[in-house]
Amino acid sequence: MGPRILIKETVNNIGEKVTVAGWVNTRRDHGKLIFIDLRDRSGLVQVVFSSKNEAVLKEADRLRPEWVVAIEGMIKERPESMKNPNLPTGDIEIEVKKITILNEAKTPPFDIDSDGHEISEEHRLKYRYIDLRRSRLQENMKMRHKVVKFIRDYLSKQDFTEIETPILTKSTPEGARDFIVPSRRHKGKFYALPQSPQQYKQLLMAAGFEKYFQIARALRDEDTRGDRQVEHTQLDLEMSFVTGDDVMNLTEELFMKMVETLYPAKKITEKPWPRLSYKEAMEKYRSDKPDIRKDKNDPNELGFAWVIDFPLFELDEENKRYDPVHHMFVMPKEEDISLLDTDPLRALSTQYDWVANGYELCSGSIRIHKRKLQEKIMNMIGLDTEKAEEKFGHLLDALDSGMPPHGGIAPGIDRLMMVLQNEPNIREVIAFPKTGDGRDLMMDAPSQVEKEQLDELGISIKKPKK
Ligand code: ASP
Repeated sequence: MGPRILIKETVNNIGEKVTVAGWVNTRRDHGKLIFIDLRDRSGLVQVVFSSKNEAVLKEADRLRPEWVVAIEGMIKERPESMKNPNLPTGDIEIEVKKITILNEAKTPPFDIDSDGHEISEEHRLKYRYIDLRRSRLQENMKMRHKVVKFIRDYLSKQDFTEIETPILTKSTPEGARDFIVPSRRHKGKFYALPQSPQQYKQLLMAAGFEKYFQIARALRDEDTRGDRQVEHTQLDLEMSFVTGDDVMNLTEELFMKMVETLYPAKKITEKPWPRLSYKEAMEKYRSDKPDIRKDKNDPNELGFAWVIDFPLFELDEENKRYDPVHHMFVMPKEEDISLLDTDPLRALSTQYDWVANGYELCSGSIRIHKRKLQEKIMNMIGLDTEKAEEKFGHLLDALDSGMPPHGGIAPGIDRLMMVLQNEPNIREVIAFPKTGDGRDLMMDAPSQVEKEQLDELGISIKKPKK
């Protein structure tokens, strides 16, 4: 057989002998003729086995969906009446000369020719590698790649440096519950997986990079709801010597260009994106995630907006303390700093949220860059000086080391892709998502580990109470 060409290229080779390879998508048996639709990553093509070639017809008789084959054949233009305008290769078909069965496959657990919405999700997630073969998910993953590549290219051109920050780090009370990882070499001690690279990115500003980004994984051991995952991907970004307007403008330009380039059919409800104060959003939309679209049924409308002027704190009645509305590193508005001593709940912050079609895509803010103010906020949210030093001493010291003013943002890639691809939940745009209760059904994680592994870690498992 000759070198393989992709199915999408077959239309350019009418009258030629070619080799294609892929999966049997469907098979139609007409006795003297057997048709298969062959699938590869580039599309589908009709392949014909005719009785003129007994040997290949016999092989074709064995073929079943999802078998993997290589085929050598002639590309023929179909008669006018047989052309299929719904298929990019619908004008042609391949008349098989030779077939090699590269692998057989068991009957697939479900149909992959449909959009898959009709199949139970648990079933789809258990066999995700098969589920991912359906064209809807192939498209979602390919668009996700293009979006991430666009972001990388755009920010690189703007002089940002992409820097990886650690996955094994320290447990700090940052808001959500940490996933913790026991250390074998330091028994009784634990790493934590990052809830976000927040502290590292601020430390990178102390380190003088000025413009940092990362396509980062953030892990939060939370009870998941609807469109959340215990691990999610965000474009984590931080800049020095900027105002909130600078960060919002950069984000807006980046994502407007991305939509124009990769989703030209989409319409943006309002340009530039409206900036609503938290108060306005609550009064007008009864939500801090307002859906500003004019036509909520139009799959091509994107209602992007900013929500600004959030309160810095909310009151935690139960624990009698202030909780940060976003996180403890958020800078209060300059003019409200004095309210911290008199009426903290009235103080507004530099936080800005980007919302899309009623979903919060991210929060960002200008950060506190001076130690005194950071310590004060930490105290107000219930971290006494000793605890603040123990948990965040590294950051407090960095603020004292020549930390420039800085701010950033972290748009969630999963949610953004869900909105762009008009998917009902983020699992549809993640290759290997977890269930709502944090299980990977395909890998069967979380799972038990060997006793030796626990012994090495000095860990024993308490029997759960009956
Ligand atoms: N670190 C924040 C988060 O992950 C985002 C930010 O403030 O940049 O939610």
